Amino acid sequence: MSNSIQKQSVIHRLSRISNYTADTSVQYVKGVGPKRSLLLERLGIKTLEDILYYFPWRYEDRKNLKKIKDLTCGNLETIIGEVVSAAVITTPKKRMKIFELSIRDDTGVLKCRWFNQPYLEKYFTKGQKVILSGVVKGSRLSMGFGFGFEMENPDFERLENDDRFIHTGRIVPVYRATEGFTPKQLRTLMFNTINSHSGIIKDFMPGDILQKNNLLPLQNAVNEAHFPENFTDAVALNKGVSPAHRRLIFDEFFLLELGLALTKKKEVLEKGISFKCEGLLVNKFLKRLPFELTRSQKRVIEEIRHDMQMPLPMNRLLHGDVGCGKTVIALISMLTAVESGYQACLMAPTEVLAEQHFINVHKMIEALEVNVALITSSSKAIPLDEISGGGVQIVIGTHSLIQERVIFKNLGLAVIDEQHKFGVVQRASLRKKGFNPDIIVMTATPIPRTLAMTLYGDLDISVIDELPSGRKPIVTKVFFPAQKEHVYSLMNSELAKGRQIYIVYPLIEESEKLDLKCAEEGAEAFRKIFPAKKISLIHGRIKQEERENIMSSFKSGDIDMLVSTTVIEVGVDVPNASIMLIVHAERFGLAQLHQLRGRIGRGNHESYCLLMAYPPFSEDAKRRLKVMEATADGFKIAEEDLSIRGPGEFFGTRQSGMPDLKMANIIRDISILEASRREAFALADADPYLRNYPLLKERLQKKWMGKLELVKS
Ligand code: ADP
Ligand code: MG
Repeated sequence: MSNSIQKQSVIHRLSRISNYTADTSVQYVKGVGPKRSLLLERLGIKTLEDILYYFPWRYEDRKNLKKIKDLTCGNLETIIGEVVSAAVITTPKKRMKIFELSIRDDTGVLKCRWFNQPYLEKYFTKGQKVILSGVVKGSRLSMGFGFGFEMENPDFERLENDDRFIHTGRIVPVYRATEGFTPKQLRTLMFNTINSHSGIIKDFMPGDILQKNNLLPLQNAVNEAHFPENFTDAVALNKGVSPAHRRLIFDEFFLLELGLALTKKKEVLEKGISFKCEGLLVNKFLKRLPFELTRSQKRVIEEIRHDMQMPLPMNRLLHGDVGCGKTVIALISMLTAVESGYQACLMAPTEVLAEQHFINVHKMIEALEVNVALITSSSKAIPLDEISGGGVQIVIGTHSLIQERVIFKNLGLAVIDEQHKFGVVQRASLRKKGFNPDIIVMTATPIPRTLAMTLYGDLDISVIDELPSGRKPIVTKVFFPAQKEHVYSLMNSELAKGRQIYIVYPLIEESEKLDLKCAEEGAEAFRKIFPAKKISLIHGRIKQEERENIMSSFKSGDIDMLVSTTVIEVGVDVPNASIMLIVHAERFGLAQLHQLRGRIGRGNHESYCLLMAYPPFSEDAKRRLKVMEATADGFKIAEEDLSIRGPGEFFGTRQSGMPDLKMANIIRDISILEASRREAFALADADPYLRNYPLLKERLQKKWMGKLELVKS
């Protein structure tokens, strides 16, 4: 009953939809329907546009028809022939049903087999012409007639009067399938959908950009990327370097870059704060600083001060490896804002890090009579009135400081630490806490400059490229469980020298509970091994107050070993710690391993990063551990990371709210990226309101999921 009602309502809806649009639900596409649309949803396909943009992940070259006598064993080949015989046989032992087909052309005979598909028998009659694609195998012909060819489970099409093939006799797209669809069914669906509906695609790209960059019209590119007709070089198609791919990749980059370009334009068009930068507080602070700033640090501070004096909003990326000393730059910048009568804030990705920053900053500027407050999700009493009244000048916190009830009197500068954990969107909401405040984002993810431009395309970039002097290199070594004693004795000797140790346990299956259990058991085990030492456990579930206590007693040296889950990942600073022991190091990503290693080697003692790895592990894991042993250069590590993980995951564009790069590969397609970036920035200059490009504007908003704030005309 419910089925027929459902059917009726679909028909009813269909009749009302006179015109299909990009947003029409995919269930109204012929051959889909409500049930299959649920299956497609698993592939991320919800609308007509989604399905049109669901591109094959590879192509098979089935266009070169071969004669049977010319087949080569082991190759994927395509032939046309005529059915000689078709029969289902049952194997005597396993009682498996095998459909056997013999095909003939004017040069020979080919045998085909399909396992467990007896229903195929009804598709074929003697004399029927068929086209087949499959991997060729050799076989001994029966009754001593020598050697012949066969195929197992080939793709086939019957040759009727239609001469447009879908599955064979052409470059054939291969889609990632899902339950409920065979690859062949999915291909048929795609073929029909494209033929009936690719007309809904409207080209949003300005004509002169198309022309100048020699790009295919959009609809054409979509058609060709699915079922190549004009460009049929399978090798190039598989590398993603066909003209169709180039157009679609250009689009992805262009919409990303245009969003960034317009964001930047919006900021330029708005008035910012011109700070005085007289050094009233900063000079006092520098006098008390127990170390000399590095050359890089001084240069970056100059760059920042220059921007802060200008009456434009600053948007600067501060980029420097773990341990290079970014915090002190953040602090000097914040003090610059404060001495001009403004407030400043510092946002960190984790509570532990925010707390650490708070403690450090508090200590460093105690004597300056600047009031600092901490806001995290576990803060009980937030001094809201002091913040809105201006009594608190510096606020440090997690993303909790974006919440609505936190109102600043006059936020002049916002610093975001470890920017890779946040995105453009959080940056925008932080910006709204003031009237066009200056923004500094800091990151330790070292990426090549051209790539940094994509991810941070709307920012100016400052780089710190040296570590403070006197740092000893860190010794990194992989150990296996059988070598435990070795590790313990090294730990013992460091403890004997008065040093401290970090022990980190991995995140297991995203479950905080399991995670904790592993670390808890670990702490217990270490207490038994080192009974005289003070060992504490820290993790995300411990209350803020207690966590602060633990961190500060570790910092003051009262705790010898700190066992933790990954909560200490970023930014903690205890120079006396000389060992970082990472348990199950094979489970960590490279960036994370590098970050964790950055917690040690901050003082002037020799320090050790010990990677305890539990075999068996993947090739990727092996490679990561090797890289860690081989280099401490964050730049090299990032490059390796990029090549192991691929750009999509490396940049985590999805989580940051930027449009996803589905087809584009930042490394392979760098020249397309540069071209699209030039066009995007030129267009943003020429028409920052996109007045002349309504289609483009609509497309842009959609790609950025409405999160883009455009210049209002
Ligand atoms: P990161 O850039 O990774 O955030 P931090 O700001 O935490 O690094 O700095 C790492 C350590 O180096 C801190 O203990 C900090 O006090 C110290 N430091 C920063 N700058 C200098 C310097 N110029 N000379 C010596 N030590 C420094
Ligand atoms: Mg830091």
